Amino acid sequence: MQLNHIANTAVASSSGKTIPVIDPSDGQVFDEIQRSNAADIHAAVTAARDCLDRAWQHITAAERGRLLMRLANKVAEHADELALIEQRDCGKPVKQAKADAAALARYFEFYAGACDKLHGETIPYQNGFSVLTWREPHGVTGHIIPWNYPMQIFGRSVGGALAAGNVCVVKPSEDACLSLIRVAQLAAEVGFPAGAINIVTGYGHEVGDALARHSGIAHISFTGSPSVGTLIQQVAAARHCPVTLELGGKSPHIVFADADLDAAIPAIINAIVQNAGQTCSAGSRLLVEQSIYEPLLERLGQAFENLRVGPAAMDLDVGPLIRQSQQQRVWDFLSDAQVSSIAMVAQGQIVDEAPDSGFYQAPTLLRDVPVMHRLAQEEVFGPVLCAMPFKDEAHAIELANATQFGLVAAVWTADGARQFRMARQIRAGQVFINNYGAGGGVELPFGGVKSSGYGREKGFEALAGFSVLKTVVFRHG
Ligand code: NAD
Repeated sequence: MQLNHIANTAVASSSGKTIPVIDPSDGQVFDEIQRSNAADIHAAVTAARDCLDRAWQHITAAERGRLLMRLANKVAEHADELALIEQRDCGKPVKQAKADAAALARYFEFYAGACDKLHGETIPYQNGFSVLTWREPHGVTGHIIPWNYPMQIFGRSVGGALAAGNVCVVKPSEDACLSLIRVAQLAAEVGFPAGAINIVTGYGHEVGDALARHSGIAHISFTGSPSVGTLIQQVAAARHCPVTLELGGKSPHIVFADADLDAAIPAIINAIVQNAGQTCSAGSRLLVEQSIYEPLLERLGQAFENLRVGPAAMDLDVGPLIRQSQQQRVWDFLSDAQVSSIAMVAQGQIVDEAPDSGFYQAPTLLRDVPVMHRLAQEEVFGPVLCAMPFKDEAHAIELANATQFGLVAAVWTADGARQFRMARQIRAGQVFINNYGAGGGVELPFGGVKSSGYGREKGFEALAGFSVLKTVVFRHG
């Protein structure tokens, strides 16, 4: 049984209740986590505050950096163990789980180096005055994390917050807690003071809500669905608590006739099958210039038919979806496609070894999806790619911007002037030109516009969100 991690101690929830942990590859229960409540959140916030007052604020920025670096190394040493945990808890194929563990280590490495480089400014002002700005931590920050990339999102969010001098209370998704509990234990082993990193597990409407409401939480980093993002904003607004929202997407690949298709095709496929399509930045829409629409669909269709889906341990192209309700959600979208006579170009194959009790979905390529259809507007959060043709550049931009989301877009074209024009006119937090975020981009600021959220995490920019600027004015003349 897994326990909460509060003040470097493993503790049971005061509720005495637990939640079963299910392996998505076979649908079987293999562990349980604490079903925590508001009292457990209060204990974690108190421990964090105590840590800040007694220890964390007295540690120099350079020493914080050394601690983060020790954690980066420790995570790297335990990468296989963490990947195995994630593989079972989230159904991630082995290679993807290992990539997530490597990314977690890299986040801590990056933020280790950032701790003592967060500078203020001096500002020219009236004669006889000197003005300077300090970047101060918020204090105790709350981190609400989804199930799709627990280690990566913990790394970017908690790594940035700690680097800026905060202490953290983390509420992982009820579907994906195990790796984060282990990382918190590793942090204690390398010397993080008790209370610097606390993990409290449980349901969102119970413990997530309690975290967002707690008056001791001075900033909330929320990564998850737009609908829960709205709830978080409402709760935070009542007490004027700042929030960073990393929400969903309906991100397009825009492929022009002059594109290098040999480079584009593997990126297009990976962007929709990685983590079984359960990725905020999944490339779930494919906009193709009319003249190459048919040949590109033919090539992609052949590639989709070769994709294999199965248990995480088999390390195939695609693993299971996280849970049965997610599988049902994808089935509902696909049955809508049938009702609307949307044609399927191709589907991958679920291997015979995949147990019926697992939550599998074959990658599916759909064509001529009407731009206002819910398949082209809403997050499916499964391996479903919706293709549609465009006439010219203006039409491509119109289609690209035609959803409520604005997270990521990719433009595939050899025309340099067009690359710039498209990058300017697409409303999204990230635009990739002739690539799709290769290498994870720990160093690159990341976030959305419109319903994809606001604020930026990752990169050095995240430190602005995880700190508060104080302006100090001296009169000496
Ligand atoms: P979700 O919104 O259901 O849950 C996210 C977290 O919020 C979980 O920890 C959950 O327990 C908690 N939660 C749920 N209800 C709550 C409430 N009332 N109060 C407080 N907390 C509550 O999202 P999910 O299904 O876990 O994750 C998928 C979503 O996350 C997708 O929309 C995806 O696009 C988004 N996402 C965004 C990014 C990004 O960087 N933009 C990254 C990953 C995932």
